[in-house]
This record gives sequence, C-alpha cells and structure tokens, in this order.
Amino acid sequence: MSEQSTPRVLSCMQPTGDVHLGNYLGALRNWVAGQDRYDAFHGIVDLHALTVIEEPGIIGPQTVELAAMLFAVGLDPERATVFVQSHVPEHNQLGWIMECTVSYGELSRMTQFKDKTAKRQNEFISGGLFTYPALQAADILLYDANEVPIGDDQRQHVEITRDAAIRFNHRFGDTFVVPDAVTPAAGARVMSLQDPTAKMSKSDDSGAGCVYLVDEPAAVLKKFKRAVTDSDTGADAVRFDRDTKPGVANLLEINAAITGRSPADVAEDYEQYGALKVDTGEAVVATLEPIRTRYLELLDDRGELARRLRVGADKAREVATATLDRAQRAIGMLPA
Ligand code: ATP
Ligand code: MG
Repeated sequence: MSEQSTPRVLSCMQPTGDVHLGNYLGALRNWVAGQDRYDAFHGIVDLHALTVIEEPGIIGPQTVELAAMLFAVGLDPERATVFVQSHVPEHNQLGWIMECTVSYGELSRMTQFKDKTAKRQNEFISGGLFTYPALQAADILLYDANEVPIGDDQRQHVEITRDAAIRFNHRFGDTFVVPDAVTPAAGARVMSLQDPTAKMSKSDDSGAGCVYLVDEPAAVLKKFKRAVTDSDTGADAVRFDRDTKPGVANLLEINAAITGRSPADVAEDYEQYGALKVDTGEAVVATLEPIRTRYLELLDDRGELARRLRVGADKAREVATATLDRAQRAIGMLPA
C-alpha cells in the first residue's frame, strides 16, 4: 500500500440531475471543509448515472453542470482533485475486479437496489443498477481513501467496499486501504419536504419536496412554507421526534444543520410550525444564494471548467494507475 503523509478522502456524486439540499448538507459541505485537512479526491461519477439514463445527449451537460456546482460550493481546484469518472478508465478496470470480489448475495442485500427497482416498476432495470456497488468499491479503493464523507444512505455502500477490500487483501495480500464512512451529525439524511418518509433524491421527480441549489430564493421559501408537517397543536407541537413527527423533525434537522445547533435545541425556540418553516427557509436561502450566483458565473465559462476537469483527471489517473497496477500484480495477472 502507498504511504501518504496527509490522510486521503474520496467521495463522489452522480450527474443524475440538479443538486439538492440533501446533497449539500449530507455531503458537499463536508467535502469543502475536508479539503483543508485531507488530500481530497471528488469524482463526478457519470458511469453510475448510466444505470438510469436511457436517452442521448443528457449525460454530458449534466456532468458539466455538476462540475460547476462542485466548484460553486467551494471545492478549490488548487487543493481538491475534481474529476470525471469516465476520464479515468482505471475505474472500469478495477470495477470488474471488484465485481468478481463481491458476492451475488451481498449485491442482493443492497437496500438502494431494492428502493430504486421498486420505483422503476414497468420500466427498464439495467444490470448496472444491480452491480454498481462493485464499481463504487473500485471508485473508493483506487484512491487509497482513508475516509469517505457521505450521507446516511451511502453507509451500506461503504460497508460493502470495506468487505470487498478485506476479502481481496485476504485472498491476494495487503493491497487496499480499508476506508471508513463519515457522516455529519445533522443533515445526514434530508427528507423530502412533501413526503418526509422519503429522502430527497436527484433522480426523483419531486419538485415541490426537493430544494435545489439552483432554485430562486422565492421558490425555496415557497417550498418551505408548504412543507408537510402534522396536525398537532399546542405548546409542545414543535419537538424533535423522527418516528412520530417526521416532517417537523426534518425541518428542525435542516435548521440545525444550517445554524450549527442541535435539532432539539432549535425546537425549544418554536411553538408554531409557521415560524419554524419561515425561519428555516430564510436560513437556507442565505446559505444557498451565494452558491447559486457563483454557479451561474462558473457555468458561463465552459473552457475553464473543461480545463479544471482535465487537470483533475490527470491527477486522479496518477493515483489510480498505481493502485490498479498493484491490484493486478497482487492477483498475479500477466503484465501486458
Ligand atoms: P440519485 O437519486 O441519482 O441516487 P442522490 O440525490 O441520491 O441522487 P447521489 O449522487 O446518489 O445523490 O449521492 C451524492 C451524495 O449525496 C452521497 O454522499 C449521498 O449520501 C448524499 N445524499 C444523497 N441524498 C441525500 C439526502 N437526502 N440527505 C443527505 N445526504 C444525501
Ligand atoms: Mg443516490
């Protein structure tokens, strides 16, 4: 295994649609904070998006938009390596090795496979939707990542990655760093404002329940004002209880994640749902507005975005080729 002085983080996002508040609080915000302390690698995983994209001409524009958003939230191309997965073909190469390292049973137990196929009833379900956790294991292991900063929904994916790394190391000798998942204290699982039992997702068409980073301030405020809560009244209606009051808990958690407090603490300030919704909406707008402005500026300069992604891919390939080579040697494949 390579010896690094600075610990490394790796985390990726799929170009499957507009980035939302859950992506920001669960992942992106922590990626930005991490670039000071870690050698940070962040991928735009277009190969994963292919599991659900069936029309031509969509993936390219979505990839560029996500790149602009990653820089808009504050990833600094001088400090963080931001790259497009398909520009680093070692992902596919180690991906196959990982497909042969995870078991059919492990893939069958992935809750995201069950969720995503349940939502796609009567639609085409690709084989990739079943096997992508193996590719995701390769995404992580290629970079010798010590930590993977993610939202709660991705924990099981890091778990299968750890199991695959341990199994490979056991079979073929010490090759991969076994990574740890890291999730934030608040905002690790932001739920839809319209259905607080379902998480916000890029690939779901839930406009009113999903707060996008590109939404105009008025639209964000409106979504918060219309957020689904419950019919409780009285002085203690605003309290933090995820099981019996999921809508209110979601608002409290979003508020807490933005203001740096705990959800229970925020609850003490409120007796009315209306005031909680308005204040939370305004706090979110204050955070998102500068991001939106920077995003629109960055998106205007496609040449500069392409240049940054080329630099990122070159840096990513340097690390990825070395790890792939190590893995192939460990297995004892005949060198080309
Ligand atoms: P898709 O619907 O295409 O799977 P997604 O919204 O789940 O999109 P991903 O690209 O799969 O986004 O995940 C990117 C990162 O955002 C991951 O770290 C994931 O854990 C995090 N994330 C996704 N949704 C949420 C959410 N609702 N709350 C907190 N974090 C989230
Ligand atoms: Mg997802």
